[in-house]
Amino acid sequence: MSDALDTLYREVILDHYKNPRGKKKLDHADVKNEGKNPVCGDEIEVEVEFDGDTVKDLSVSCAGCAISVASGSMLYEVIKGKSFDEVRKIAKVVKAMLKGEEYDADGIDLGDLDVLEGVRQFPVRIKCALLSWVTLVDAIEKADTNESSKLSTTE
Ligand code: ZN
Repeated sequence: MSDALDTLYREVILDHYKNPRGKKKLDHADVKNEGKNPVCGDEIEVEVEFDGDTVKDLSVSCAGCAISVASGSMLYEVIKGKSFDEVRKIAKVVKAMLKGEEYDADGIDLGDLDVLEGVRQFPVRIKCALLSWVTLVDAIEKADTNESSKLSTTE
């Protein structure tokens, strides 16, 4: 077990945990969302600024275990500048990766995210790793709905 834990908490995760990349405040956030993982006590706040259907900038502030913070930090690096469709696709890949399901990551640069694959040996930690992704996708779905309601009122 301790060998496996060593693998899980290897350098990349600890580095993201100590220096979370997306921890900042946005001056012009278009949408905000909060998420919680009561099982572990992880709490997260995600802010997103859009440019059309692209994530122009985002912030990820997470207070929780190393896995939840590191996953949110990696999310920030991978998601910045991506379109909504790309975000959904990447989130799907991350989910499949964590659950040990098959996935197609063709054309996607996962950055450090492949490290999270080790988390699947610890089912209780999967929710920690998914927290930032669920919270982000939720935020984008909200914004997408707002956008379409704006369109329908201008028609
Ligand atoms: Zn956690």
